Amino acid sequence: MVAGVSGETPCPRCAAGSRFLLRPRDRMGEVLAVVRVCRSRACGVGFTDPAPFRLAAAPAAAPGREVEDRLAARVVAAGLRRFMGRLPARGLVVDAGAGSGLRARVLAEHGFRVVAVEPDPVEEARAHAMMAALPPGAVEVVRAGVSDLPAVLAGRRADGVLLWHVLEHLHDIDAGLGSIASVLAPGGVLQVAVPNRASAEARAFGPRWHGWEPARHRWHLDGESLRIVLGAAGLAVEDLGTRGGWGYPSGLAFSMAPGLDPQVNPRRALAGRALAAALVPVAAAARLTGRGGQLVATARSVPG
Ligand SMILES: [Zn+2]
Repeated sequence: MVAGVSGETPCPRCAAGSRFLLRPRDRMGEVLAVVRVCRSRACGVGFTDPAPFRLAAAPAAAPGREVEDRLAARVVAAGLRRFMGRLPARGLVVDAGAGSGLRARVLAEHGFRVVAVEPDPVEEARAHAMMAALPPGAVEVVRAGVSDLPAVLAGRRADGVLLWHVLEHLHDIDAGLGSIASVLAPGGVLQVAVPNRASAEARAFGPRWHGWEPARHRWHLDGESLRIVLGAAGLAVEDLGTRGGWGYPSGLAFSMAPGLDPQVNPRRALAGRALAAALVPVAAAARLTGRGGQLVATARSVPG
């Protein structure tokens, strides 16, 4: 019997007691009266209580015009430069939770062999369409989740795995990371990005911070707790901070203006994108302070 203090929700990860943090607002800015964010007293992982029943990420904004997509691809490529620099040329890379497939396409355009897994059928269809201009077979798009990776790879080992704003959605965070660790080649690289619970913007916006996303995010991590869950999966953390990628300008934008979130209001998607673009310098400056809105960790599978 684990000693959870009476009245506290036990941590779904380690079963220790937890501390109440806040009642998050949903995407429309409403308080969800029965939903709380708590933090484990033992492992430090934050969690939404009760668990969201719809964990999959919603499809992002509909694909833009070709010129927008080309611009987005350049931004994504710049954000992935350091990850790609750690991989062998023509290595096998998995984008787990590939969404509309833009990252996978960028990886393929840089010469990597890519497997893109995406559980949502709408996103998976978009990812297929995203690869139309590539040579056939350059990216293998599979409708599957993180727990299916061993079956999808069928004995192949990945040189790299990308987990971009996916970890916070997983039903079982340890099983998900274990599945990834099992398909990484010895010395293979995992790069993971999550909203940063300890960011300046999370503090500034409090319950209104977009990163809580209580309808879909089960887990809320800071640097310490991300390090703990990666270590528990047997992965050696090489670096961890808010400097990777381009910060999280869309999170900042939709914390400020929830009505411009394309998932709330698809007809204002363009205005939302414009605001996010305008906030890129702010998000970029915040990430340099170590209190940026997005945490990026790089970890390696330990050989042997
Ligand atoms: Zn815990």
